[in-house]
Amino acid sequence: MKRVRITAKMRADIFLRHGGVCHMCSMKVTPGQDWDVSHEIPLEAGGKDDDSNWFVAHRSCHRQHTAKVDMPLIAKVKRVHQKHIGATRPKGTMPGSKNSKWKRKMDGTVVRRNG
Ligand SMILES: [Zn+2]
Repeated sequence: MKRVRITAKMRADIFLRHGGVCHMCSMKVTPGQDWDVSHEIPLEAGGKDDDSNWFVAHRSCHRQHTAKVDMPLIAKVKRVHQKHIGATRPKGTMPGSKNSKWKRKMDGTVVRRNG
């Protein structure tokens, strides 16, 4: 996905719209504190790259959030996606399992399934 480049003007607009309040800890970003434009829903998880998904976050809050919440979420989304597109397939059919045409009998001999 192509990321929107957020200009200084856009940053200022986002800051004003949210009253300079960090959406993670609900504290004001005070002058001199580093802050980021945070995506409430990570882009990797299908969030939009526009006004509706842009929030103000202290850099420290943002980092913590990214590590604790976004990363596992993104990892999960990726896993689900890979499964969806068939990138992760079960490693073949286990010999003797129900899907195999062979079955292992109780005494250990392997026989062809009937039908
Ligand atoms: Zn914060």
